[in-house]
Amino acid sequence: MGKRYIMAFKIFNTLSRQQEVFTPTRPPTVGMYTCGPTVYNYAHIGNFRAYVFEDLLRRYLGYLGYQPRQVMNLTDVDDKTIRGAQAAGLPLDEYTRKFKDAFFADLQTLNIARAEFYPAATEHIPEMIALIETLLDKGFAYHSADHSIYFEINRFPAYGRLAHLDMAGLKPGARIAQDEYQKENAADFALWKAWTPEDGEVFWDSPWGRGRPGWHLECSAMSMKYLGAGFDLHTGGMDNIFPHHEDEIAQSEAATGVPFVTYWMHCAHLVVDGRKMSKSLGNFYTLRDLLERGYSGREIRYVLASAHYRQTLNFNLASLDAARAALRRADEFRERLAAQAAAPGKTPAWLEEARMSFRRAMDDDLNTSMALAALFDLIHEGNRRLDAGELPAPEAAATLTILDDIDRVFGFLAPAPETAPEDLVQMAEERRRARAARNWAEADRLRDMIAARGWTIQDAADGFKLKRNAP
Ligand SMILES: [Zn+2]
Repeated sequence: MGKRYIMAFKIFNTLSRQQEVFTPTRPPTVGMYTCGPTVYNYAHIGNFRAYVFEDLLRRYLGYLGYQPRQVMNLTDVDDKTIRGAQAAGLPLDEYTRKFKDAFFADLQTLNIARAEFYPAATEHIPEMIALIETLLDKGFAYHSADHSIYFEINRFPAYGRLAHLDMAGLKPGARIAQDEYQKENAADFALWKAWTPEDGEVFWDSPWGRGRPGWHLECSAMSMKYLGAGFDLHTGGMDNIFPHHEDEIAQSEAATGVPFVTYWMHCAHLVVDGRKMSKSLGNFYTLRDLLERGYSGREIRYVLASAHYRQTLNFNLASLDAARAALRRADEFRERLAAQAAAPGKTPAWLEEARMSFRRAMDDDLNTSMALAALFDLIHEGNRRLDAGELPAPEAAATLTILDDIDRVFGFLAPAPETAPEDLVQMAEERRRARAARNWAEADRLRDMIAARGWTIQDAADGFKLKRNAP
């Protein structure tokens, strides 16, 4: 190996376009803001790719001994939610509630650890109004003729730094009202949108009359409320870099005069069979679509975690089948180890090296694909040693400990316990009684019936366990 490895977590900072050693401002706490869902629809797997990346980041920070203080916002008022609610003929809050609930259920399916805060935009309107007042006072914002309020990007010289915009061709005074727009349209953007009849019942009173906040403003107001004027990490998808995050920086730094965020991390896109996911191509999947096809949250999480977050992830159903096979291999390895139960002994050198390979990969800008390779090298070597009778019981236990340790980050190794259907539990109970009565023929008949349903009975001292057979 030669050179001694110096442990340091390095991340690629979108702001500098370089890898930097991660050094939080107030360790062990790490302030972390992740742009959450716009709750106008069920989130699709492209969205979940970003949320799984952020979960891996959060978990790895915990693994390194940091204490993440994570905020994920819920955008429940913007152009899309208002249009969706109107199309559905529902009040905005009723329309978004359904998708908020679905979102939290989906997070659980994917074993995504909970953030400390999930602020909803509609519950933070006073904070947003206060931020706009500061920007008006400091001369960074102005009223338009229709009583909306815009941020004047010419007043903020650092505008374009995150997205690396060329500001030379900019038309002074050009304005854009939509929440989303392209780089070519960089222009003064709306902080507050005056009410229009298309907004229907959706409006709040403000010192400037009825209206609603712009999307970008929501994230500035809520991140600073929970994390302070400057904090360590801000993440999102690459498509958030412009305009969303560029605008967040402008609003926040113009208002506070201090750097908003130290490290920006952005996750690449997910494509399906090499093509952009779209409903018209028939390659659009929500998490729910995949569960209906019989895949588990664990398998989906595995695929979403398997590529490095800055690489485009090419997703397809075959990758889920491959995940199922890989996880089966990991499960079988753990079962072999568990069969050798003993108190863990001293960690042998080969295992310590495996642990370091995992650590080195993750330290390298969260390189999950390399970390996964390290994990399967460990499984390969462990199986080889088991085959050769070279893995004594205490070493087997130490291996299980390391697998659990790695799974604090990956979160897909521990199989979700599957509960057997009630009628199978009753059959197993009858079989136990038959055995107790030494009625072996009846016991075997029941065992075979259970096996035909794809389950195995494992007799245990205190009764039995029902275990689902591998598909
Ligand atoms: Zn945001």
